[in-house]
Amino acid sequence: MTDPVADLLSFLDRSPTPYHAVAECVARLERAGFRALDAGARWKLDAGDKRYCVRGDGSLVAFEIGQAPVADAGFRWIGAHTDSPNLRVKPLPDASAHGYQRVAVETYGGVLLHTWLDRDLSLAGRVTLRGANGPTTVLVDFARPLLRVPNLAIHLYREIRTDGLKLNAQTHGIPVLGLEDAPALPELLLQELRAQDLAPKSVAASDLLGFDLMAYDTQPACVSGARGEFVQAARLDNLASCHSAVSALLDAGAAGPSRVHRGFVLYDHEEVGSRSAQGAGGPLLAETLERIAGGTKDAAPDSLARALTRSVLVSADMAHALHPNYADRHEPGHQPRIGAGPVIKINANQSYASDAVTGGLFADLCQQAGLEPQYFVARNDMGCGSTIGPISAARVGMPTVDVGNPMLSMHSCREMAGSADVAPMIDVLTRFLAPGDG
Ligand code: ZN
Repeated sequence: MTDPVADLLSFLDRSPTPYHAVAECVARLERAGFRALDAGARWKLDAGDKRYCVRGDGSLVAFEIGQAPVADAGFRWIGAHTDSPNLRVKPLPDASAHGYQRVAVETYGGVLLHTWLDRDLSLAGRVTLRGANGPTTVLVDFARPLLRVPNLAIHLYREIRTDGLKLNAQTHGIPVLGLEDAPALPELLLQELRAQDLAPKSVAASDLLGFDLMAYDTQPACVSGARGEFVQAARLDNLASCHSAVSALLDAGAAGPSRVHRGFVLYDHEEVGSRSAQGAGGPLLAETLERIAGGTKDAAPDSLARALTRSVLVSADMAHALHPNYADRHEPGHQPRIGAGPVIKINANQSYASDAVTGGLFADLCQQAGLEPQYFVARNDMGCGSTIGPISAARVGMPTVDVGNPMLSMHSCREMAGSADVAPMIDVLTRFLAPGDG
């Protein structure tokens, strides 16, 4: 049995972008006997089938067909998101000035920009190239320090002492790539594709048709704290939940078959509002459940509608732990602590989808695992953010509970969560996917 914390660290390090996260999940699913489904083919599914389907490179569904008819047993699914706030390369990236090669970047999602300063940044993503049979897309990862957004020396920035750090993302957030005689990014990219055998040696600038490249911190994920209490890494929001979802589906499958139809959906584009073809606001989950309901031998026109009355989605996204230096930002009676296990997120105004029924189900699962769930609810004078839960619930019509592990520094280039929280979340999610029903 692999140590779940060590496994999470390696999952995070292998997943610098949503596309790499999906590729890492697919590798894990394949090793456990899951097979790819062609989104363009008609699906025919039998009890016990383990299948996955990638959408838009950054989103993924994976599921195991249950032993009972879909309409009778329903779905038990987990949702999470693969994307994190970061800096993404603009299509014409040359922003050279004053003797430096610089790379024009666009902020993606709610970036805490100051946390990206003075870090050893690399680039990864996907590249579309002209091929003999039409355009092809490959994943690429430079996997070495390449970029830096340098801080301004305090001697040249006296007002920082009185006014605090003020950053303009357009003018102050531009990473430096090299000195002016260095190759520009498109040329570097071609060199890298050739060196990693991702493109033929003959690949030329005119073959480069498009890219989605993003910066990431090259510092590996680690365990820290006096007793190893903390996990410190980039992208814990929300790759830690993706890791829990994959681990739970594989653990539940290893424990044996189930009546229920279990699976997970990992969405791209949560950090920018989920309105995309492969985001939670799109048809991915609804369409997948419909195709499962219609692709099994007991399929009837009302299978999906009947199944949804007995289905639950656990939307797993990281939760705000109490910050010891900003305790006043939290509702006094609801202060999730790192190391104290899963958090159920409540918002009466439906920024979270949890209610008495779905939250109660999750609380019961926690208690079966020997845990008391923690609760997050925002102060009435503060917003609380939102997540894929309410968006999926509205799109699919599936009862949903929003949960997550507690963390600090959410949306920082380097976030922190609790080592002791990794295994319990996987345990509770595994119980969710493997109800004791034979
Ligand atoms: Zn999130």
